[in-house]
Amino acid sequence: MAFASALHCRECGREYPIEPNYVCDFCFGPLEVTYDYDAIRKSTSREKISSGPMDMWRYDDFLPVSRENAVNLGTGMTPLLKADNLGKMLGLNNLWLKNDAVNPTYSFKDRVVTVATTKALEFGFKTLACASTGNLAGSVAAHGAKAGMETLVFIPANLEYGKIIGASVYGPTVVTINGSYDDVNRLCSELADNHAWAVVNINMRPYYSEGSKTLAYEVAEQLGWRAPDHVVAPLASGSLFTKIWKGFNEFADIGLIDAVRTTMHGAQAVGCSPIVKAFDSGLMHAKPEVPDTVAKSLGIGNPADAYYVLKILKETGGSAIGVPEDEVGENMILLAETEGIFAETAGGVVISALKRMAKEGRFDPDETVVAYITGNGLKTQEVVASSVHPINIEPNVEAFEEKVLGANSN
Ligand SMILES: *Cc1c(COP(=O)(O)O)cnc(C)c1O
Ligand SMILES: [Zn+2]
Repeated sequence: MAFASALHCRECGREYPIEPNYVCDFCFGPLEVTYDYDAIRKSTSREKISSGPMDMWRYDDFLPVSRENAVNLGTGMTPLLKADNLGKMLGLNNLWLKNDAVNPTYSFKDRVVTVATTKALEFGFKTLACASTGNLAGSVAAHGAKAGMETLVFIPANLEYGKIIGASVYGPTVVTINGSYDDVNRLCSELADNHAWAVVNINMRPYYSEGSKTLAYEVAEQLGWRAPDHVVAPLASGSLFTKIWKGFNEFADIGLIDAVRTTMHGAQAVGCSPIVKAFDSGLMHAKPEVPDTVAKSLGIGNPADAYYVLKILKETGGSAIGVPEDEVGENMILLAETEGIFAETAGGVVISALKRMAKEGRFDPDETVVAYITGNGLKTQEVVASSVHPINIEPNVEAFEEKVLGANSN
């Protein structure tokens, strides 16, 4: 049973029926899903959630579709790992990593796509599509395959090889476009007007974005039913970030956790950091820019949810951190070497931001800090390729002693 009752405009509050619609006819504000929270309060409990399926669909009381119909590859309930090695280095006694690099298509995008695909089928769409910075393409392609839908993915032509292959392998039509993500998104919006497509991050966006709330629900449950003191998360369009905040607050409103006192911090690489620049200048709107960053998954120059991210940053006393481009790969390696997690570039951005904030004393040593690792390093190997040095030898003991032991002793 799904408790979604309507769509409402985030700007003027006007309500709309549950349809494939994403923008307010009156003020052009973005639409968001509204729920019957009294009904959710009656239906849900910690016990009910805990005894649900071992994936994100255990929280379907808070999603716009119910799990009976879900196009589900087993997304969610990813590990929340205590990061003692990295924590010690940064002076943090309660540092946790939410490892969403281990989802079915190796990024958090499976959370949003499983919801959007399920809703698209419910609406009767035959074609699934997206405009993607890479990870979304892989996830849409996989869910489209599972759902037996025609699938089209649009991506910038300069993406990492691992992301192009990682989407193409599921058999969708892959269109690579000579332009930035913002060009891809604009073209895709134009095309969507003339085709009966469910574009997961355009006309399905209100449903799609709700999937990210499960990143908050899982962390709250995994911490023993509480919200952390600090969250550090990457920013592209800003949707993920705003939905983590929404998720914690819904849990508190329903009474599953105490009042939320979480400070929310966002991170971007400086080569595409419109939200960080707005934050630093005290503005509430981001000025569009052309992305030029190794963190391609975060390369959105005109972020749709910038305003709402900036509001949350202000409201919670959080910060927006711009990470130098050359720190992205370094911190992918730091995370791998300290905690055994090979994250993609977005993870390098988050760890770099975390390190900078720890150095500046923004956390008390005993506060609970959760950093979100949203994608897998196997898809962005280019960024660390020149930093790894296997030792090649002939198959004999002398060669080992000379080249390996010899190399280690000097
Ligand atoms: C898409 C993506 C993000 C950011 O998503 P938004 O919701 O657009 O802010 C973060 N990390 C990774 C790995 C992504 O693929
Ligand atoms: Zn409106």
